[in-house]
Amino acid sequence: MWRSSPERELAASWEADAAAGRAPAAEAGEPPRVDAGAAGEPERPAREEQPKAVLQAPARPRAAEEGDARVARRLPPALPLAPPRPAARALCQLAKARGRGRGYRRGSGSLRPVTVDSSKARTSLDALKISLRQLRWKEFPFGRRLPCDIYWHGVSFHDNDILSGQVNKFPGMTEMVRKITLSRALRIMQNLFPEEYNFYPRSWILPEEFQLFVAQVRMVKDGDPSWKPTFIVKPDGGCQGDGIYLIKDPNDIRLTGTLQSRPAVVQEYIYKPLLIDKLKFDIRLYVLLKSLDPLEIYIAKDGLSRFCTEPYQEPNPQNLHHVFMHLTNYSLNIHSGKFIHSDSASTGSKRTFSSILCRLSSKGVDIKKVWSDIISLVIKTVIALTPELKVFYQSDIPTGRPGPTCFQILGFDILLMKSLKPMLLEVNANPSMRIEHEYELSPGVFENIPSLVDEEVKVAVIRDTLRLMDPLKKKKETQSQHPEKPVTGKEDLDCEMTGDPDSNPEAHLPSICLKQVFPKYAKQFNYLRLVDRMANLFIRFLGIKGTMKLGPTGFRTFIRNCKLSSSSLSMAAVDILYIDITRRWNSVTLDQRDSGMCLQAFVEAFFFLAQRKFKMLPLHEQVASLIDLCEYHLSLLDEKRLLCGRRRRPQSSPPQEMNARTQSAAGSLAPRMIGANKLSHSRHALS
Ligand code: ADP
Repeated sequence: MWRSSPERELAASWEADAAAGRAPAAEAGEPPRVDAGAAGEPERPAREEQPKAVLQAPARPRAAEEGDARVARRLPPALPLAPPRPAARALCQLAKARGRGRGYRRGSGSLRPVTVDSSKARTSLDALKISLRQLRWKEFPFGRRLPCDIYWHGVSFHDNDILSGQVNKFPGMTEMVRKITLSRALRIMQNLFPEEYNFYPRSWILPEEFQLFVAQVRMVKDGDPSWKPTFIVKPDGGCQGDGIYLIKDPNDIRLTGTLQSRPAVVQEYIYKPLLIDKLKFDIRLYVLLKSLDPLEIYIAKDGLSRFCTEPYQEPNPQNLHHVFMHLTNYSLNIHSGKFIHSDSASTGSKRTFSSILCRLSSKGVDIKKVWSDIISLVIKTVIALTPELKVFYQSDIPTGRPGPTCFQILGFDILLMKSLKPMLLEVNANPSMRIEHEYELSPGVFENIPSLVDEEVKVAVIRDTLRLMDPLKKKKETQSQHPEKPVTGKEDLDCEMTGDPDSNPEAHLPSICLKQVFPKYAKQFNYLRLVDRMANLFIRFLGIKGTMKLGPTGFRTFIRNCKLSSSSLSMAAVDILYIDITRRWNSVTLDQRDSGMCLQAFVEAFFFLAQRKFKMLPLHEQVASLIDLCEYHLSLLDEKRLLCGRRRRPQSSPPQEMNARTQSAAGSLAPRMIGANKLSHSRHALS
């Protein structure tokens, strides 16, 4: 149901970036990135920092991490300015600006820099330090007694008790992007919108869907005996290629031992990837989830391409075990003996994505189309993830209680097929932000040395994320949205009046490398956000703040308030539906924290109710119609409560206040989520 050819619109929008073979990484006026050094990528996401045994891959040296006996050679605390590269030029200008108060925030008459707590930054510390120096913000490497504006965490939201400011992780993100959870979230979307979500390979969850996997493969093979598929088995929560193996036959899955104790995803293997220099490669793209509600997504204009080190052949029984041919993980290929550390961003075993696009463009490939397909993939994937993230969010940061706001950089791993169609491999909640790579001095002896290509891409992503999250900028934006509010920071106003070039604290920085894609393209994608609206309904009926599962009373109230019971659906049948679905989901999900119905179980129940009520429509229309109906009845209920409240209070309060009170009385729906629940006149409800 591709309504208005978003690919075309997206492509048009990115045209400037991609013009004349210039890769999107290069902004107007920004020199093309051809001079950066290339190096192996130190991909060690924080949750993935444990050394792992890999099938047929040589033993890897331990990651040099904080607390490790073998400590990585850290960049010196006062890093000398980098050699003249685009980023370095900014640093030089920055040095000139020293002492002029740039980067310091003027408010209430005192100078105040943006403060960042980096005590939990772990492996992203080096890139963060460089970014903060470029921004001239104040770093607190050991934490701070007073609150900071921004907390930079290496691993997860739960690293600290934070009551204010902003933190660079969302609660629940790590759980959401695990292989099984991601597959489940995408499968719901594939059921609703099969064509729009065909960028994720068909997947089965093991062990629970093993029989289904066997049966479905047999069915397709019976229909087409020439079909000779390959599958890839990936342990849930695994990383760096750990425990991954390829199979030709479902019965080759290693059901004994590990699988029972370690769930996995088995997926169709993409056997025709795009090759460059006869090698398979994948793309790591950085995506900023700036806000969950309202949804705001940014994509970095450059990423990294990680190459295999053995020429690719389509899988056959002889090469199935060749990890250096089939798996693109840096952490594996660095040990192949053929890994090439190159001084150029466009050669070697790790290159910038922009260099790949340049090369494709020179061969006549429509790279605007490639980019727009990638943007589309990213937006759709985030849309699949947000409903459950909202449930985590309201549980961890209940409305009305003090807490930080969140943002997060995600690492999207994407494979380009030979046809140039991008396919999603996985999403990383903690993409490696290391800017050094391992260098083998002599056999088995490794040293970490700075990697220019990592530094160029990753420092830009961190620095520009911080620029977008700048609390002062946010304050200014809020002020410009509420012009009636007096400008309190006199000096901000002065700067604008005088036109002093120094008044722009970012004048010395390169143009921002993150591009907004949502809400920019919201119109083309909003129709996909059905599960998001279901999550709003779910959260409204959760009742007690802080829970993530719906109790039987909450489910009954949902049915009653939305007027879904009828002569053909008694409340007894509703109770049976609740018990049946809840029990099944609780037996398969890992999360046993609360009892009750999780969001996915609610979605299943919702699909069931929608199918019953609107039999003749396609699934997504059934579901959309039921959501409309529910939202309509709930808005009537809210209005009724509003009127009752007015009658009880003869000296009526101002309408906005009244509204907020009544809405919060109507349930536990967080005010930030009420927008999605506004009056919606369903044709079905009105007919
Ligand atoms: P990990 O988190 O362990 O790195 P991934 O899902 O990223 O797991 O898979 C590891 C590598 O395996 C990828 O980088 C890619 O090269 C390859 N791969 C993964 N899934 C597929 C697939 N469906 N088809 C082809 N190659 C794949």
